[in-house]
Amino acid sequence: MSKILVWVEHDNASIKDATLAAVTAASQIGEVHLLVAGSGCAAAGHAASQIVGIAKVYVADDAAYANALAENIAPLIVGLMSQHDAFVAPATSNGKNIAPRVAALLDVMQISDILSVEGPATFTRPTYAGNAIATVESSDAKLVITVRGTAFIKAAPEGGSAPIEAVVGSGDAGLSSFVGAEIALSERPELTSAKVIVAGGRALKDADTFQATIFPLADTLGAAVGASRAAVDAGYVPNDYQIGQTGKIVAPNVYIAIGISGAIQHLAGMKDSGTIIAIDKDEDAPIFQIADLGLVADLFDAVPLLTHTLQETK
Ligand code: FAD
Repeated sequence: MSKILVWVEHDNASIKDATLAAVTAASQIGEVHLLVAGSGCAAAGHAASQIVGIAKVYVADDAAYANALAENIAPLIVGLMSQHDAFVAPATSNGKNIAPRVAALLDVMQISDILSVEGPATFTRPTYAGNAIATVESSDAKLVITVRGTAFIKAAPEGGSAPIEAVVGSGDAGLSSFVGAEIALSERPELTSAKVIVAGGRALKDADTFQATIFPLADTLGAAVGASRAAVDAGYVPNDYQIGQTGKIVAPNVYIAIGISGAIQHLAGMKDSGTIIAIDKDEDAPIFQIADLGLVADLFDAVPLLTHTLQETK
């Protein structure tokens, strides 16, 4: 049976949701081993061992592996690949930073952003901004794969008891160093794991109007806030709000698009959402072609009324 090494994204204590989806994908290819690399990451190693369906957890605890510096972690993974047939990472910012380095060091092709596992080396993945699905078969000796988190159900985080093995890598590659992180603190749910998202587009005019219109509706619904690239480029919200081909890929239960026309690059990031609700004043806006519920209205009338009505009925 093929042995699959999955890189675990964690915060030293708990495992990120996208990794649980990557575990499900990996389990459809072969026996799943996890790599928890970090500094002071024993608790994350323990949490990883609890995930259902895992055969082994490697823990590499070294200051060089803090902050998921890809230049240090990729050689560690390559060292473990002599015992594995495939490497799998979630298609998150860090996963997409690490996997290509692993592929280059192994001199194999990377298979990016898979949506399904069709066979031991055959996968589907989106192409042309998700307008076509390619079936890709690899003939490489080792597979390097990133997994779209919204395409696989999450592995159960508790119930397993995999053995933990400490591993030592080559440590600091001396190619990069961690300078600092500016983490945006928010009371709202995180975009990629939110059940409900309220997203605003260019129509919101400016940062203040975006805040005054979109945020109250999101807070009333307990929703995360997202935006189109046009809204981000115009400075209404920071770029970690961007949804789409060059932003985040989301699939909440409910996606409310407000003043977003529905360009293919935006749809690429949200069209797998459960129920899509669109509010736009142009009845020909492409967003209505994929919306389950559409309201043709001026958002500056509709959104405050909707927010007020929801608040009244709470
Ligand atoms: P617009 O297309 O300008 O739409 C605004 C909408 O608001 C219109 O439908 C209009 O009818 C409506 N409107 C205006 N006023 C009101 C009102 N008062 N009430 C109600 N409705 C109103 N875009 C992304 O979103 N994410 C990406 O990741 C992304 N990646 C890209 C990558 C590449 C390589 C390229 C070339 C483009 C990318 N884009 C991306 C940009 C994309 O092509 C569109 O330009 C962008 O999505 C448009 O944003 P929007 O819908 O907010 O703006």
